[in-house]
Amino acid sequence: MSKPLGSFPGGLKLPGHKAQSTQTPIRKTPISNKLIMPLQQHIGAAAVPIVEIGEKVLKGQRIAKADGHVSVCLHAPSSGTVIAIKNHPIPHPSGLDALCMIIETDGEDRWIEREAVADFKSLSAHDIRQIVRDAGIVGLGGAGFPSFIKMNPGVRNKVETLLLNGSECEPYISCDDMLMRERADGILDGVEIMQYGLEAEEVILAIEDNKPRALSAMELALASRPHMTSTRIVIVPTRYPTGGEKQLIQVVTTKEVPSNGLPLDIGIVCHNMGTAYAVGRALYHGEPLISRIVTVTGKSVEHAGNFETLFGTPIAELLAFAKTKRQQDEAFILGGPMMGVNLSGDNLPITKTANCILVGVHDSAPEAEPLPCIRCGDCASVCPASLLPQQIYWHSRAKDFEQAENYNLFDCIECGCCDYVCPSKIPLVSYFRFAKTEIMTKQREQQKSDLARDRFETRLARQEREQKEKEERQRQRKAALAASKAKKDKEDAATTETADKEN
Ligand code: SF4
Ligand code: SF4
Repeated sequence: MSKPLGSFPGGLKLPGHKAQSTQTPIRKTPISNKLIMPLQQHIGAAAVPIVEIGEKVLKGQRIAKADGHVSVCLHAPSSGTVIAIKNHPIPHPSGLDALCMIIETDGEDRWIEREAVADFKSLSAHDIRQIVRDAGIVGLGGAGFPSFIKMNPGVRNKVETLLLNGSECEPYISCDDMLMRERADGILDGVEIMQYGLEAEEVILAIEDNKPRALSAMELALASRPHMTSTRIVIVPTRYPTGGEKQLIQVVTTKEVPSNGLPLDIGIVCHNMGTAYAVGRALYHGEPLISRIVTVTGKSVEHAGNFETLFGTPIAELLAFAKTKRQQDEAFILGGPMMGVNLSGDNLPITKTANCILVGVHDSAPEAEPLPCIRCGDCASVCPASLLPQQIYWHSRAKDFEQAENYNLFDCIECGCCDYVCPSKIPLVSYFRFAKTEIMTKQREQQKSDLARDRFETRLARQEREQKEKEERQRQRKAALAASKAKKDKEDAATTETADKEN
């Protein structure tokens, strides 16, 4: 075990509020009668259904395939019958519907035949990534990026450090803490596989100092694997947002990920503890990703805790299981109070990225009417990405997105520290999200129009080429005809001459 070397600018010391949800072991949420599976539960293209309405499916059966490279497949979380593939509300701040597959469960919870790998070292890194991809594994820290891509450094990159993020710095959320306490061995299964696949020189398990029981469990599990000599635990100080990928890297290694760059650019790959656990289950047990641990907490939750919940389970059922006293239509937060999003309807499903449901928050930033910016600079002093939030705010508000980008808008990790301290209560992060969405929409439209132009130009070039080829063929045909006519004329003339001579 070692101490961290570095730090990051800004950040906040926040009350943790974790005790409420860490008093009881992880419990299993009962299987819902109807599981609602959004086809998009990850970053990238939505999965494409491969089963039909009326078809019976088994637990763990693939029900939708990946669409393209940045995409993953989906699996039935329990056995039953597909009863619909239709638009349904999803847990997204837009409140919009999206295509979902709805499975009526049969209560049997019958698995497909699972293929476990006895010795992962008998597989190539490529084979391991394929299993991870086929298991539908995405980053479970909240981002939902397909994990097999992050497990592929490419031939030109060398991975020095595989960093396992066990900091879980946002208040209230404790799913990783409980996972480390109860399933440390399972996490290390996945860590070993990831290290082997990435050919990483060393592994660092970074755990915040407010999780002593998780730390002990991980230490014990690591001590029982003496062959893991290149793996060590680093205790990091509790400060928000230490769990941000770039911030954690700075704290643990003192290295800085370049602006607009990736950790891989400096030889580091970072994964979440829950993701490592899922990788271990996929290889050693042949289990695809069909459930996750969800923290349910907040002052309105009587039996707060962590719940192993099948994807597709309606949030209302999970809240009822945790004995939540929530008024009808009372908003709740998906995620934590700093980075989470407010949702109202509860007929929404738990998805791969749903790490916490927070109902009734003690001290989230108050929703007072915002006042004008007084240029106090408090937002800049707490920004862990060393940005100038007030400048980005001015430009985002004025829809001058180019300038917002010039102030490194895309380095903003949306941690909410600036919102939290702003004396004028300006919802800065909402402006930043709006600006990012606008820029990305424009970029997508530009890409689409570039693609359409490329296609048009390619078609035009092909038509021109085909016309030229046609003309060339006609010219050659004419020339051949002329040559053959000339030859015939010559032969006819010769025949006539011979006949004349004979006469
Ligand atoms: S903290 Fe708020 S009021 Fe102060 S400079 Fe930043 S945006 Fe303006
Ligand atoms: S939300 Fe963005 S701008 Fe605000 S403090 Fe966090 S990283 Fe900085």
